[in-house]
Amino acid sequence: MKKTIKPTFIQLITKQFSIIFIFFLSLHISVYAQSGASTNKFKVVLDAGHGGTDSGTLGNGLQEKDVAFDVTNRIYELLKKESDLEVVRTRTTDFKVPLSRRAEIANKEDANVFVSIHCNGVANPNPKGFETFVFGVRRNKDNLETAKRENSVIYLEDDHEKRYGNFDPNSPESFISFTLMQEEYLDQSILLANYIQTSVLKSVKMVDRGVKQDVFLVLRETFMPSVLVELGFLTNKDDATMLKSDANKQKMAQEIAKAIIEYKNALPSEDTSSSQYVETETTQKIASVSFSVQLVATSREIDPDPKDFKGLEPLAKLVENGMNKIVYGYSENYMEAQELLQDALEKGYDSAFIVAFDQEGNKITVNEALKSKLK
Ligand SMILES: [Zn+2]
Repeated sequence: MKKTIKPTFIQLITKQFSIIFIFFLSLHISVYAQSGASTNKFKVVLDAGHGGTDSGTLGNGLQEKDVAFDVTNRIYELLKKESDLEVVRTRTTDFKVPLSRRAEIANKEDANVFVSIHCNGVANPNPKGFETFVFGVRRNKDNLETAKRENSVIYLEDDHEKRYGNFDPNSPESFISFTLMQEEYLDQSILLANYIQTSVLKSVKMVDRGVKQDVFLVLRETFMPSVLVELGFLTNKDDATMLKSDANKQKMAQEIAKAIIEYKNALPSEDTSSSQYVETETTQKIASVSFSVQLVATSREIDPDPKDFKGLEPLAKLVENGMNKIVYGYSENYMEAQELLQDALEKGYDSAFIVAFDQEGNKITVNEALKSKLK
């Protein structure tokens, strides 16, 4: 069923922001006629965090290096069965691999994606949940310093100064220029991260900590879409119980493997195996998708008054399938929408989630919205 937002939403959004960008461009698009399958396989580099003398974080009898290795190998076994994939691991034993070496392996392999698997841990036993990171400057306000902890392993490497220069894990701002390298792949990394996040959370009962951006050294030096998965907090009893269960680890691995395949299939075809070249003139519509955060859905009448929603604004109402829904915020940037979601969660809207709209205001899935940014 086509879900359409009632005009009130569009009017409100338009009034608030006057930015519904729709432009039509006449483009010359080069189209390669496709014939035959590409012989180049889609290459996945799987990176089990830590290893050897670097145990990673510890908690509830678990070591990060073991859990990460176990889940990575499960993903490896699943992806290996796919005939159109080639899968490479950065470590195949309990061995310490420097962060820069992990990126180097992925670059040398000329991989299509790099997926680094980790577990979280903090002094406070309460934080829990599954989260996926892409490289970038931290946007969320929480002070759980996952990137700082993950990056600090370079101090276990004898020649860290030579490898990483004056990189200071405590000061991510000191090397913002390095973001440029990953920036080129940001949209693709976000799409992959979102596939992983939504896929795992659909099948495993864990807290959804969302897709986030932070300065992870291991992602910094890869020349391909790259994500870092934090499977859960070993320092939290519930998460540790999940990560001790083979059945759960298998489920997580299945969902991550599935997400990687979904991501691969979502990419625009780059098949250039045929030399037959056709030029066509096409009128292509280029317009921005947008993201908002749904706060509540109710069958009763409800007004988008910030006074009734803990001061959150801007708000808009949309009517969908006979339900009145209040959405908060508006952004064409998914990572900004993640910040809006954090605002809503902090105000107590525990079941808030991100929704996406196409340029005409029709609701689409978040993955569809992210996918459209790749075209
Ligand atoms: Zn780690």
